[in-house]
Amino acid sequence: MDFDARFRTQLDDLKQEGNYRFFADLERVCGRFPKVLNHGPIGPEEVTVWCSNDYLGMGQHPSVVGAMVATAERSGTGAGGTRNISGTAHHHVTLERELAELHGKEEALLFTSGYVSNWAALSTLGTRLPGAVIFSDAWNHASMIEGMRHSRARREIWAHNDPADLDRKLSAYGPDVPKIVAFESVYSMDGDIAPIREIVEVAERHGAMTYLDEVHAVGMYGPCGGGVAEALGLMDRITLIEGTLGKAFGCFGGYITGSAALCDFVRSFASGFIFTTAIPPAVAAAATASIRHLKVSEIERAKQRRQVDKLRARFDALGIPHLPNPSHIIPVMVKDPVKCRMIADTLMADWGIYVQPINYPTVPKGTERLRFTPGPLHSDGDIDHLCRALNSLWSQCALARQIA
Ligand code: PLP
Repeated sequence: MDFDARFRTQLDDLKQEGNYRFFADLERVCGRFPKVLNHGPIGPEEVTVWCSNDYLGMGQHPSVVGAMVATAERSGTGAGGTRNISGTAHHHVTLERELAELHGKEEALLFTSGYVSNWAALSTLGTRLPGAVIFSDAWNHASMIEGMRHSRARREIWAHNDPADLDRKLSAYGPDVPKIVAFESVYSMDGDIAPIREIVEVAERHGAMTYLDEVHAVGMYGPCGGGVAEALGLMDRITLIEGTLGKAFGCFGGYITGSAALCDFVRSFASGFIFTTAIPPAVAAAATASIRHLKVSEIERAKQRRQVDKLRARFDALGIPHLPNPSHIIPVMVKDPVKCRMIADTLMADWGIYVQPINYPTVPKGTERLRFTPGPLHSDGDIDHLCRALNSLWSQCALARQIA
C-alpha cells in the first residue's frame, strides 16, 4: 500500500482549503525579543514577533535565564526519570510549593505541559469518580476535550460563558451525581473572559466541583499573577486551578493546584503524570524564578496593558476590525483562510512582521483571524510599523473596515 500517497492526498486537501500550516524558522536572541532572527526563505533577516504567548517576555528575563543556566550547570540537563523513579528533584518540590502558594491552595502537581495537565487531570477525575458527569464549556480547549473524552465519563456541553445554561444542565442531575464544571478564564482565540463568579455560584448551588484552566491568565492577571480568579478574589472557591509555565512565565510545563487530597489523587492515578519523565530541574528552577518575579513586579503587566490599549486604539482609528474583549489578546478578523494566509505571508515578506494566521481547526471556518499579542517589549515604533503595514494591506486586499 502506498501510504505516502494517502498522506499526500489529505495534505493537498488542507493546502487547497488554505488550512495547511507552515512554521516560521526563527531564532530568539536574549535581549532583542520581540525582534528575532529569521532563518526562513521569506522576509528580512530580522523580524518582529507579534503573536508570542510569552506574553511578558519572561523567556528572556535575566533572572529566569540565570536560574536556568545556573541550575543546568549545577544539576545537569534532564530529570533522569519519571517523578516516581528517580526523576523528582528538589527544584520540582520547590516549584510545586510556589504554585500552591500562588493560587492559595494546599498543593500543586507538575506535568510536562499544560496540555498534559488538562488531559491527565480531567481523564483521571472522569474515570475515577464513578458516575461522574463533566459539564464542559462549549469552547473549552482541545486538551480538556481530549481528557474528558478519554475518561469516557458522561459529558454535558453548556453554551459558552452562559451560567444560566450551565444551571439548566446541572439541574437535570440529582445531588448524588459527582459533577465537574470545566471551563477557562481567558479564551485564547477570542480573548473573552468567563463570568467566573456566576459560574462558581451556579456550581456551588449544585454541589459541583469547579475545574478552571487559567493557562492564558497566569502571570498576567491578579496582584501576584495568580490569574483572573485571583483578580476577582475567587481562588478559594475554585476546586482545581490549572495553568501552564509555557506562556506568561516564559518556560515550559503545566500544573494543577487544589487540595492535598485532590493532588494526591491525581498523582496516584493519572497515567499522564506517572509514566513520563519529569521536566528538567533547570526548567523548574527558571519557572520558579519567573513566578517569584511576577508575584512582586507589576511593571511587566502594566507596560503590557499600555501597549495593548495603544494598539487597540490605533486599530480603531484605522477601522481594522478586531474583536472587542477585556483581555490582552487582539484578534483581527479576516474571515477567509486564503486571505488570512496571504496577509500573514505579505506581512512577513514585505514588512518583517511575524503573525501566524489562525485558521481551522483552531477556530471555526469563516472566523479566520490574525491574533496579536502586544507585550511590554513592543515599542511604540513597533506599533506604528504594524499599523502602517496593516493599513496598507487592508486597502490592497479591499478588506472591509470597521467604522466605530
Ligand atoms: N489550555 C489552553 C486554554 C490552551 O490554550 C493551551 C495551549 O496552548 C493549553 C491548555 C496547553 O498548554 P501548554 O501549551 O502548556 O501545553
